[in-house]
Amino acid sequence: MHTKDLGFAVIKSSEHVPAFIEASCKQSYLRSKHLYKKRLTRKITITLCSTQQEWLKAIKYYRWPNAAGVVLRNGDIALKAPDLLVVQAKEKQRTRISGHAMKKWHKQLEKWSTKAVKNVILHEFSHVFWTHHYKTTQPNWLNEGLASAVQITHSITKEEVINGIKERKLNEKSLLYRMRIQKHPGGKKGGLYYYNLWRYFTLFVTNNNLRRAVQFMDEYSKRPSRKKYEHLFKKYFGMTEKEAWNAFIN
Ligand SMILES: [Zn+2]
Repeated sequence: MHTKDLGFAVIKSSEHVPAFIEASCKQSYLRSKHLYKKRLTRKITITLCSTQQEWLKAIKYYRWPNAAGVVLRNGDIALKAPDLLVVQAKEKQRTRISGHAMKKWHKQLEKWSTKAVKNVILHEFSHVFWTHHYKTTQPNWLNEGLASAVQITHSITKEEVINGIKERKLNEKSLLYRMRIQKHPGGKKGGLYYYNLWRYFTLFVTNNNLRRAVQFMDEYSKRPSRKKYEHLFKKYFGMTEKEAWNAFIN
């Protein structure tokens, strides 16, 4: 077992911990610490998984074999190592490609996996701070919206999200949609679509000032109820949820 003590967290791994992961954890921790303006309530454990068996063991009660990262209910992180992401992407590839194209693709996969892991770490650290300080996972759009907003890269443009909303005839209820629990009309890009929807909606209602979302949560999490939600939505975002939704899609 390899361990890396970062002060605020310990990374545990059966394999050597790549330097970029250590750096990425530090950077992501600082990013969310700055956003939430809070400290973690305790030192966390980050389990870096090099095999699918390690992953299934690390995510415990969750049934998310295909996720790349997860925050447990106690606020610890489980992460798939980039090599594992590459192995799994190769397993998924079923169409035959020529030797040269295959080589090129494998090179791209390595680059992709590094970027993917960096994004996942940024994303999960927002959930860590949320979990450590808020007793609720709701509102879901804001929890995932904040986590997705701190990532570096995004695969879907705002225009695609808005077009998707219109094609799928989604209304503001899609803000409360629970990933992996209900079937969703996500189409080709599936769940990924929703993360982008929530991210753009979060950026929209906060006018690109994510601190406003945190201030909303600081107050809402004390006594989360539908009534409080509606009141605080107006207070922090300047309009009702329905008005915000309509302004967002038009
Ligand atoms: Zn998330």
